[in-house]
Amino acid sequence: MGALDIVLLPCLADNYCVILHDPESGETAAIDAPSAEQIKAALAERGWRLNHLFITHHHTDHTGGIAELKAFYGATVTGPEAEAERIPDLTRVVTAKSELAFAGHPIQVLETPGHTLGHVTYYFPNDGLVFTGDTLFSLGSGRIFEGNPEMMWESVSKIAALPGDTNIYCGHEYTLTNARFALTIEPENEVLKKRVAEVEALRAAGKPTIPTTVDLEKATNPFLRPRSRSIQARIGMLGAPEPEVFGRLRQLKNKA
Ligand code: ZN
Ligand code: FE
Repeated sequence: MGALDIVLLPCLADNYCVILHDPESGETAAIDAPSAEQIKAALAERGWRLNHLFITHHHTDHTGGIAELKAFYGATVTGPEAEAERIPDLTRVVTAKSELAFAGHPIQVLETPGHTLGHVTYYFPNDGLVFTGDTLFSLGSGRIFEGNPEMMWESVSKIAALPGDTNIYCGHEYTLTNARFALTIEPENEVLKKRVAEVEALRAAGKPTIPTTVDLEKATNPFLRPRSRSIQARIGMLGAPEPEVFGRLRQLKNKA
């Protein structure tokens, strides 16, 4: 089994669609469907046809292109069972128990509720890739629209528990905004400061800050660091349990 070609496609204002192509079989998949037009153009440019769509959650900026892509390519559309009613074009529903693969590459489904109640994350263990949708961003976490902080903390913890060199692809380019907040929480974190400088340079050059890695996020993302004494001290929660610190960080970020 060879390496997959990966195309990180900016869509709409700040969304990402990731296109995966297996050169051996010619099979192509996409994670989320922000824009049928933009995805069709990117595929046409490369002479690829879409076989599979993997959807993380029901929000329109991740599902808006499904109907047209499904009609145009006859692609299989896979998404969370818990959101099947809200994503009408699914052809296959999945839970954490599902056995899933793309072009012979196994996929583990992680249930990562919080942003939405059915949100799933797709982990490709053999490829060291994880697609986190709107659950975990670089230097940030998703907003908690449908769940609660405990639930969201558990979800981001599942991603943090993956091997450190796993490449994380998230649903939005929010890194620079997240970086500004992260610096207010942990101004003395040297790894964070270095990452922020990189992020600023990448964005100034119009380049994506994605993928990031599990290890880099664990070292820099305040939402994965509620155990840090310096973070706890800064927000006046020394010794508080992780889900509570996480929840407070989320509140502060919402107000930032
Ligand atoms: Zn969303
Ligand atoms: Fe989104």
